[in-house]
Amino acid sequence: AAENGNGGGVCMEMPEIRYTKLFINGAFVDAVSGKTFETRDPRTGDVIASIAEGDKEDVGLAVKAAREAFDHGKWPRMPGSERGRIMMKYADLVEQHAEELTLLESLDAGKPCMATRAVDIGTSVRSLRYFAGAADKIHGETLKMSRQFQGHTLREPMGVAGLIIPWNFPAIMFFAKVAPALAAGCTMVVKPAEQTPLSALYFAHLAEQAGVPDGVINVVTGFGPTAGAAIASHMDVDMVSFTGSTAVGRLIMEASARSNLKPVSLELGGKSPLIIFDDADVDIAVELAISANFFNKGEACIAASRVYLQEGIYDRFVKKLAQRMESWVVGDPFDPRVNQGPQVDKAQYERVLNYIDHGKREGATVLTGGKPCGQRGYYIEPTVFTDVKDDMIIAKEEIFGPVMCLMKFTTVEEAIARANNTRYGLAAGVVTKNIDVANRMTRSIRAGVVWVNCYFAMDSDCPFGGRKMSGFGKDDGMHALDKFLAVKAVVTPVYDSPW
Ligand code: ADP
Repeated sequence: AAENGNGGGVCMEMPEIRYTKLFINGAFVDAVSGKTFETRDPRTGDVIASIAEGDKEDVGLAVKAAREAFDHGKWPRMPGSERGRIMMKYADLVEQHAEELTLLESLDAGKPCMATRAVDIGTSVRSLRYFAGAADKIHGETLKMSRQFQGHTLREPMGVAGLIIPWNFPAIMFFAKVAPALAAGCTMVVKPAEQTPLSALYFAHLAEQAGVPDGVINVVTGFGPTAGAAIASHMDVDMVSFTGSTAVGRLIMEASARSNLKPVSLELGGKSPLIIFDDADVDIAVELAISANFFNKGEACIAASRVYLQEGIYDRFVKKLAQRMESWVVGDPFDPRVNQGPQVDKAQYERVLNYIDHGKREGATVLTGGKPCGQRGYYIEPTVFTDVKDDMIIAKEEIFGPVMCLMKFTTVEEAIARANNTRYGLAAGVVTKNIDVANRMTRSIRAGVVWVNCYFAMDSDCPFGGRKMSGFGKDDGMHALDKFLAVKAVVTPVYDSPW
């Protein structure tokens, strides 16, 4: 069912690219060096636009603007309700521009536009509204200390936040970090991924329209080892929230350790298990496995690329899955019939194909897919491997592409041990009708989230973030707000207290 090309049923016109420069102190500016880089259309590899290439000097200017806005500006000092009001307006503006943003995001990242509107732009709006509502609910505690003292805590904005985001969910990741940072009263320097800079620049423009003061949100587009590293090692950046690969997460922590020991929060890679028990409804299990592996063409840190099937359901599941994949459509993301677009760029495309080769060479069996498709662009067939062993590379490493590995298990104990036998701890899914088995699994799996009879169920109020080498710190929920707040204890003596 793979088809490709730009013809037929294309849902909307191509968007105009309006914003291509760095956004610093409320203005779009060229990079100091004058350099630019190209963002490409993953359907064809053609250039979409040239984007200003920020480097260390530009990060320096952005941090200076953010510092000034934090130390002397209105944003951290205004009542939380006023920040919330501006954020609500910001959310309304994103919603009003949803159609254009949907096109931009779909084009830059190769996402099926039907899903982008609901998932990527919808989630962005919800994040802003959720954290807007939290902006005037930031409270400390009162402390009745022993002896002649009393105390209270203040929760103050951390300061200048460095926000480094990946290319798989550019809009969602932008607001997963920007929204709580804004609510807390921080100012920020955001670095979108070099593959997908377009939506972040558009969001910078909308922030200005909403009334976010100059210098509060700065966006520096550019590459990781230059612009990204400059943020992570800057002495005047007070914290970093990063989402990306485990390898780069390690570099961010090193940069923090070598510079000013800024706190970091890291949302990194995963190799998440989906464990399907004999009593599961096989149709539901198949749909969950498909979305958990092929949604966003497998470019998801929470992709459940290790699917463990109890032996009683294995054959039925494999048969249903193979049938179901016949109607799965790979092709132009602007075609509303399409389920899966191209991988984000050439490097990712080659990386995923390389993993597929590894799987074949290590002796796994290809049930579906297993090769690239289309005449041009970065399309890969959704690939299902059976006969996968836990020690194969495809069962251990994060693939970040449309590749599902099926494995068989017998007992609950075995499922727990094998699910946890990974360096990662981001997400997990369990499919069963047995509440006791579900409880046992949710309490035994070491991961940041365990979904029971669902997968990918995320929302602004549900804390998200991993354990082990998947990182630490949460996006979403009040936990995300906490990381942008410093707790300060204030203590005074009390004389003649009656209590
Ligand atoms: P992926 O491997 O999925 O492309 P990365 O972890 O490389 O993810 O990228 C995530 C984000 O981190 C991007 O914005 C990228 O530019 C940035 N980045 C990459 N290398 C570094 C680095 N050395 N320091 C800081 N940021 C980096």
